[in-house]
Amino acid sequence: MDYKEYIRVIPDFPQPGISFKDITTLLKNGEMYREAINDLKKLVADLKIDVIAGPEARGFVVGAPLAYALGVGFAPIRKSGKLPGETIEVGYDLEYGKDTLAMHTDAIVKDQNVLIADDLLATGGTIATSVNLVRQLGGNVVGAAFLIELEELNGRAKLPDIDVFTLVTYS
Ligand code: IMP
Repeated sequence: MDYKEYIRVIPDFPQPGISFKDITTLLKNGEMYREAINDLKKLVADLKIDVIAGPEARGFVVGAPLAYALGVGFAPIRKSGKLPGETIEVGYDLEYGKDTLAMHTDAIVKDQNVLIADDLLATGGTIATSVNLVRQLGGNVVGAAFLIELEELNGRAKLPDIDVFTLVTYS
């Protein structure tokens, strides 16, 4: 399936020089959305997964349906101050800005196998931070799955010991 036909590319968003890959045009197509999640499911079929962890907001859009399809749990990774229970937090640099991500301290049980999911791998900062959070909680990161990888930003370099699975690559 050529998912690129369904992904809208918006130049100079949110800043000049950035070519934003907009997945809303894929998500609104029910058949394509389901096919994309089913294809991601096939890519991770050989992994033993107990929980999927996904960073807000688009990591929920990919991670939660994938968790449902696999019959495993979903653990949200959120911006600081959003989760109501006891949390751990890690700060990080974004492709455009800085932020802090948080997880509930009881989101992962020690030694659970965790797949991290997001819409897009750019510089890898978001996912490296997510990996850091999951590992601090004692989780075993078995891979990271994305709809899109922006190859030239070389996010994989920040995830040297993680198996990365992507449906669509932009170079
Ligand atoms: P990274 O931390 O640099 O890998 O950036 C990945 C995060 O930024 C993901 O959570 C994406 O949702 C978001 N992001 C960065 N660039 C784009 C884009 O072109 N389209 C959609 N999301 C993006």
